[in-house]
Amino acid sequence: MTAPPHEARPTGPGRALPDTQQGMRRRNLARVMHAVHADGPLSRAGIASRIGLTRAAVSTLVDELIRTGLLEELGPERPGRVGRPGSALAVSGRGPVGIGAEVGVDHLAVCAVDLRGDVRARAERHVANRGRSPGPVVEELTGLVRQVVAEAEGEGLWPAGLAVAVPGLVARDARTVVRAPNLGWQDVDLGALLPGEFPLTVDNEANFGGLAELWLGADTPANFLHVSAEIGIGAALVVDGSLLRGTRGFAGELGHVPVHPDGPECGCGGRGCLEQYAGEEAVLRSAGLEPGEDRVGLLAGRAADGDPEVRRALREAGTALGIALTGALNLLDPQSVVLGGALAGLAPWLLPSLEAELSRRTAGPACPVSVSRLGPEGPLLGAAHSVVRAVLDDPAAVAERA
Ligand SMILES: [Zn+2]
Repeated sequence: MTAPPHEARPTGPGRALPDTQQGMRRRNLARVMHAVHADGPLSRAGIASRIGLTRAAVSTLVDELIRTGLLEELGPERPGRVGRPGSALAVSGRGPVGIGAEVGVDHLAVCAVDLRGDVRARAERHVANRGRSPGPVVEELTGLVRQVVAEAEGEGLWPAGLAVAVPGLVARDARTVVRAPNLGWQDVDLGALLPGEFPLTVDNEANFGGLAELWLGADTPANFLHVSAEIGIGAALVVDGSLLRGTRGFAGELGHVPVHPDGPECGCGGRGCLEQYAGEEAVLRSAGLEPGEDRVGLLAGRAADGDPEVRRALREAGTALGIALTGALNLLDPQSVVLGGALAGLAPWLLPSLEAELSRRTAGPACPVSVSRLGPEGPLLGAAHSVVRAVLDDPAAVAERA
């Protein structure tokens, strides 16, 4: 079995476990969970052969995982096999759920994802958050979290943690929003504002979008650059199955890579940043349209109808993306680029000029560009799945809290 895609935060449950007997037991519990998650349903013998432990050792670990509600027995395997039939085991659809939340510039969303990856509850509200102070925004978000948790608990599930995606820079403490220019937030400790009853992780929306692609995307390679847009543009660089976060946790700010050094002023203090050419509002402005609520829907609809101004604006946005991406690709040499978020919905009109720019400018063969099927759901799903991954990576820690 290949190792599962892994992403560990410095303070998260995925940290290295101590090399003691307890540490060994915890690692083996994680190996059992990952085996059943990746290849289940599996019998005890099937798990044993996959992870190289004796069947007796696996039985002890499985019993513990069943007792704590992380695995469940599906009943005897199909008859007709030689020997005593083993019982098939699957990750539980009634145990912990990961709660994912997203603070967008004009929406709030929360969902609960179970260990099987199914969304079990969801709530969303359209609300203009730009310029709103963090307190009321978080209060509204907390209301949605409580609604989703209550719905999940009604189905016998329990929250294992809360992960929040924000459109801004997040410190490596995974709770402080250092700067979110499109919300107007600076140095906001979300950990102090959000409910304290669950383990909390806050991360940049582009990071969660990239992780969602790593965990849920179709045939995603281990090295790729995920580029997504809302009003801002963010990138997540995945190297050997892990996010490259940078020294302060601020890596991936592709939106503030200069495309034209003398271009329009940007909220970051610079000039001619990519965001000023390929962010949703910049494209609307360029096409002579007012920024409304469904910006991507408006642009995609007009482009599909053949509106020449919208098509030109998207073509120019594709060119700007190509220029900014050329620098990233020449420097980093990933296996592919994945367009997510709003860019996924606009890809048919961005790709031709983007790819033309890449093939003109990159050294060597052009890097393939694909479109995420997760679209704007990526960050929210990535947030919820990060909690699920933490459960799989250290089931013992979660069982202790159950
Ligand atoms: Zn900028």
